[in-house]
Amino acid sequence: MRNKIPCSAERLGLLDPQMIQAVSEASAFQIAQQYLTENRVRIAEADDAQITSAVIGNAGLYEQTIRLKDGHLLSKCSCTLSEEPMCRHCIGVLLEYHRWSQPKPNADAPQESPPPNQAAHFVNRKTAGNTSSIAEVKLSDVVKFMEWLPSATTAIQAQGQLPDPPQCDSPEVSAWTHAICHLAEGRRTSDQAATRLRAEMRDRETHVRRVTQELQASMDEVKAAQMTAEELRLKIATYEDRLTKVAKLATEMVTCEAQLQLAASDLLQQDSQFEKIAGSIKEIAQTLIATAKPMLKDSE
Ligand SMILES: [Zn+2]
Repeated sequence: MRNKIPCSAERLGLLDPQMIQAVSEASAFQIAQQYLTENRVRIAEADDAQITSAVIGNAGLYEQTIRLKDGHLLSKCSCTLSEEPMCRHCIGVLLEYHRWSQPKPNADAPQESPPPNQAAHFVNRKTAGNTSSIAEVKLSDVVKFMEWLPSATTAIQAQGQLPDPPQCDSPEVSAWTHAICHLAEGRRTSDQAATRLRAEMRDRETHVRRVTQELQASMDEVKAAQMTAEELRLKIATYEDRLTKVAKLATEMVTCEAQLQLAASDLLQQDSQFEKIAGSIKEIAQTLIATAKPMLKDSE
């Protein structure tokens, strides 16, 4: 987005926060202050007439160019926000530039390292009529970092131990190495946790397999017991059948015995009648003999 605001200031450094706030949308100004607090504004090059910068926004990095020209403040940002008359990024850059361009309390003293909040800029700072530059990040530190980075990358890819980070004077470079070491350490911890979890899962799988086998064995036993029970049931049924038959036979035997007793008593009765008849016949025979004897004597 581009914007053009009438502005009577002669130098960008004269635009103080109150003035910036007066022309800004309240929400955009508030977010810009937040960006400042979070150190997300990077002034790449600046003088009192022009600032080139970048801001780490919520959705990426945006680049800005802000100029004072012909009584106007011209701002350009690579974002697509519709905040008027300036986006939060340009407001953040102006606030940062104002803070940065204020004279240091000990301006007479030799140039000291910048305060921590400003140490994070890649800056070639040019002031009006003064072209001296201050490298806030030491080039030697950057070189050390770049030399360290390939071996660190290799170690991270191989999941090995990181090489010792370089000793740097620049807090920014130290922050980079610390961030990488921190990430690598986090990843190593995660890998260890993953390995531990995998081992636990393997143990549990073994346990589940063993329990499954035991269950299978128990089911086989139950099945065998069921078969035995079925066989026993069949045998019992057979025995019951046989018992029924035996009971029937016993009843029939009792009946037969009674019939035999009846037959026997009949026989006994008939026997006595035979004896009586035999006695009668004997008597008749004796009578006949007795009758016949005298008759025989007479005939002689
Ligand atoms: Zn913007």
